[in-house]
Amino acid sequence: MDIKSLNIEELENYIVQSGQPKFRAKQLYQWMHVKRVCSYDKMGNLPAVMQKELSKQTEFVVLKPVQVLISKIDGTRKYLFGLHDGNVIESVFMRYKHGNSVCISSQAGCRMGCKFCASTLDGLTRNLTPSEMLEQIYAIERDTGERISHVVVMGSGEPLDNYDNLLKFIELLTDTNGMNLSQRNLTVSTCGIVPKIRELGDKKFSLTLAISLHASSDEKRRELMPIANAYSIDELLDACRYYFEKTGRRLTFEYSLVGGVNDSEEDAEKLAHLLRGINCHVNLIPVNPIKERDYRQSGTQAVQGFKNRLEKMGINATVRRELGRDINGACGQLRKSYME
Ligand code: SAH
Repeated sequence: MDIKSLNIEELENYIVQSGQPKFRAKQLYQWMHVKRVCSYDKMGNLPAVMQKELSKQTEFVVLKPVQVLISKIDGTRKYLFGLHDGNVIESVFMRYKHGNSVCISSQAGCRMGCKFCASTLDGLTRNLTPSEMLEQIYAIERDTGERISHVVVMGSGEPLDNYDNLLKFIELLTDTNGMNLSQRNLTVSTCGIVPKIRELGDKKFSLTLAISLHASSDEKRRELMPIANAYSIDELLDACRYYFEKTGRRLTFEYSLVGGVNDSEEDAEKLAHLLRGINCHVNLIPVNPIKERDYRQSGTQAVQGFKNRLEKMGINATVRRELGRDINGACGQLRKSYME
């Protein structure tokens, strides 16, 4: 029984079934998701016998960092957390003018196989539970003593490949009686699992959906991302239009620029044509080279040229500022080097 993954109704059912009065569920929920103490014995208003019973019968997920790297350049912190079964996952803390942001993992490893990404090199180990996703944020608040206002599900793993746990995580994270993060301050990034994008649209959340596009033709996209064999860019963009219709939320397209592969002005033009008429923003990410592959970063000139071309054709674009370059900032690099 993974108690921190239960919403308030499920917790009430559990508490009543175990012979306790229903109001205890609210108290417990508050300790876990508002005061966020690390063990039952800190829950002052719960009877000691109940604390004991709970610690015998439930799993109380608390993540402890096994390693923390702090960037000397920008103060970005990269956390490696150990899970109860010996797996490790990574999360990143970043300070911005608009507030503190945490980037969390949704799976240990990943099975999507994107060519430039370190998270997927050893495949998927397992899905993370809602509590393990939440705890990455809680643990970083505990460690930094600073309030987290923004969350991006953009670390290792494919969130839409762990869809049910993702939904529960969103429910708990944005619950006004819990952590109470605004849905508007939450971003979920996907490599483009088309049916799940539609399902998520039907939920009408006001979170930001980010789509990893990375190419402007199916042919090139298939070279970088195996998921492109399952869904064409046309199908993907149709799902994006559907998502916008349902939620009214502007989409973000992520485009990692790989030198000599997808960074020409012609690529930019094709991309602008594809995205014409979609309410969106393009986030350009100079690829972060990993040692297992020989992809190289586009030069500053190519990056600027790409951005200018998009903007001339009426597509909003920003170049993502690189944070934590000195601490294995890219997806999955720290976990991989730790496991090795
Ligand atoms: N699976 C999700 C979320 C995790 S990856 C997704 O695909 O969107 C977060 C983003 O970082 C994705 O756009 C991914 O393609 C990109 N990314 C991963 N490794 C990278 C690297 N080495 N350099 C640049 N971008 C990378």
